[in-house]
Amino acid sequence: MSTTAPTDTMAPWKGVDLDDPGAVLRHAVDLYHPRLVLATSFSIEDNILAYLLAKIRTDVRVVSLDTGRLPEETYECAERMRQAYGLTIEWYHPEAADVEALIREKGAFSFRESVENRKECCRIRKVLPLRRALAGAEAWITGLRAEQSVTRSSLHVVEVDEANGGILKLSPLVNWTYEQAWDYTRKHRIPYNRLYDLGYTSIGCAPCTRAIRPGEDQRAGRWWWENPEHKECGLHPVNYQI
Ligand code: SF4
Repeated sequence: MSTTAPTDTMAPWKGVDLDDPGAVLRHAVDLYHPRLVLATSFSIEDNILAYLLAKIRTDVRVVSLDTGRLPEETYECAERMRQAYGLTIEWYHPEAADVEALIREKGAFSFRESVENRKECCRIRKVLPLRRALAGAEAWITGLRAEQSVTRSSLHVVEVDEANGGILKLSPLVNWTYEQAWDYTRKHRIPYNRLYDLGYTSIGCAPCTRAIRPGEDQRAGRWWWENPEHKECGLHPVNYQI
């Protein structure tokens, strides 16, 4: 796959300070609202973006994927964010028939048996619902940061998302460190998932996410039984990078 996007894709971004998340979001709202979507798992990064967006306007679409396996703490965090910033959260669920067939044929923990099975579960519970959530959108916003893992190290603020119909994918915090995200969260008193207080550094499905141990990298608690090169759910495959 080429990593060079059409130059006219980047033209509307000329002159925008891509190192300033607020500037990126303001420009994205100007260009794409109401066909702009923030996808959130209620990580600290996603909550920062929701906070910044709410300062620009409160009716930007905010979507989250209810996989059916989320921890209770994530729903509590979502509710705190909803109340704090007046968000309308669109929850997207997997197709019931797909989940019923998966569980019937392979049981409730098939994702532990192979990378292929894990990706099948992520596809049913995350990738396909996200595709529905993004239907009709021109751009979506993620809280990805490059330092999170080897699979994210070559991310850019603006990319073309071929996996989701060639819409733009914006990651305004791509160059932020984990410490920066926490400093910002504390400074602005943004609600955060209380799993972080228990040693979690990444927020995901309950059976596939654990607290990390001293010295482990930030994504070590996700699918910890897998090789690091495999640790994506299919929501963030390699895109055209601008
Ligand atoms: S993170 Fe785990 S439970 Fe959640 S969709 Fe992926 S494999 Fe399934």
